[in-house]
Amino acid sequence: MTSDLKGDSTTKRCRRCREIKPETEFFRRGRFAVGLRSHCKSCHNKARSPESPWQSRSVSLRLRGLPSPGIPALREALGEPQTCYLCGSNSLDWKTAVIDHIMPMARGGTNAPANLGWTHNSCNKLKANRTLPELVTLLKSIIRFQEHLGR
Ligand SMILES: [Zn+2]
Ligand SMILES: [Zn+2]
Repeated sequence: MTSDLKGDSTTKRCRRCREIKPETEFFRRGRFAVGLRSHCKSCHNKARSPESPWQSRSVSLRLRGLPSPGIPALREALGEPQTCYLCGSNSLDWKTAVIDHIMPMARGGTNAPANLGWTHNSCNKLKANRTLPELVTLLKSIIRFQEHLGR
């Protein structure tokens, strides 16, 4: 066996896409396990990517102390992030979107899908532990006061 791996790189056939690729295109099985995965890196990433943003949202709902409805129920109820239910902008994406509790958890709201909505992270912070009517009341009083000041 040669020790010059750069000049004589070994290859492996991906079991999913059937392409023969250099071994550097395969992830290792795990930090302490021997050998490479049977799927190439690009197949591995493709298989993960549709679930992973949902996965992280589901986990973060669970970490806040109540059971998550699970990925299929979340996907069904919310769809991909697009429209912020607070400001109405259609500019949401996975980077800017967070799941807001319409009735805040601090006020007894749960992770039931009907109590969840996509918002901008910034809109979510503004709402904080307010109910929707409380937020609207606050915003109206801010507008009235600022108009009174002539701003
Ligand atoms: Zn592949
Ligand atoms: Zn918004």
